[in-house]
Amino acid sequence: MDLKNLLDVLIEKNRSLISQGHVATYIPELAKVDPKLLGTAIVDKEGKVYSSGDSKVYFAIESISKTVVLALALLDNGEEEVFKHVHKEPSGDPFNSIKKLETEEDHLPRNPYINPGAIMMTSLIKGKDPDDKFNRILNFMKRISEDDTLTLGTETYLSEKRTGDINRALAYYMKGQGVFSENVEETLDVYFRQCSINVTVETLAKIAGFFARGGVLTTGERVISQRQAQIVTGLIATCGMYDQSGEFLDNIGFPGKSGVGGGILCPLPSKEIGVAVFGPAIDKEGNSTGGMGILKDLSDKLNYDMF
Ligand code: GLN
Repeated sequence: MDLKNLLDVLIEKNRSLISQGHVATYIPELAKVDPKLLGTAIVDKEGKVYSSGDSKVYFAIESISKTVVLALALLDNGEEEVFKHVHKEPSGDPFNSIKKLETEEDHLPRNPYINPGAIMMTSLIKGKDPDDKFNRILNFMKRISEDDTLTLGTETYLSEKRTGDINRALAYYMKGQGVFSENVEETLDVYFRQCSINVTVETLAKIAGFFARGGVLTTGERVISQRQAQIVTGLIATCGMYDQSGEFLDNIGFPGKSGVGGGILCPLPSKEIGVAVFGPAIDKEGNSTGGMGILKDLSDKLNYDMF
């Protein structure tokens, strides 16, 4: 069976898992998304895209943007500076938990992929004002995905801004502890916008491919260093699925970074392949139920398991 046919089969096989999840409702705009959508895409070593299901549907990138913003923060500041502000350890807590910010002695976020860590990374992005910083993030995302169609989902952004009080609490807590030096509202404005960029599952597979190739575009042009790509991908493996990260790595066997919009981005560095799924019905940890089913099948059938 060729790859396209396999993806078609896996979409149908995993549709039944959709009913085990629900669309995110804590961001009102996400509650309007059709829970039945399901799509997947793979980008091979040469950059060829294979996709199936709802692969042309745009949805909010949400937490998957945290990988792209980490890459840009590393480019802007260097590794040493970035990791003065955030650790590299899985938190074992939900993505918006304040618990470890309080209990850890230095009050720094555990990693760049939980909300406080991601807000911290956004605060490190260079730019003269929030618009400039957001435009730099959007343009960087367009560049590494080689996808010019990406735009801001204004309704999602406004919805997040209106209801994002837990994120405000996380940022103000860090500020109160003296570990966050930027303006909270301005930083959150950029953070809410980066989460609201509209992508397709094909865009995600292309970004995954970029990280899997070690930071090189399909044209051969290098955008970030091998080391920077390695940091982004290594942290995806250990921290990408929040408090399901350990189970995901054991069960699926390759790195995955999810978002509450229903996307999961999976770079496979050993094969230089990018894989992505999209299914807005998510479980209580915030991870796509149908999407994880497809990833498990791909892992088994194509021998993608790293272990
Ligand atoms: N924008 C969302 C939030 O900050 C992202 C969360 C996610 O995708 N897990 O809550």
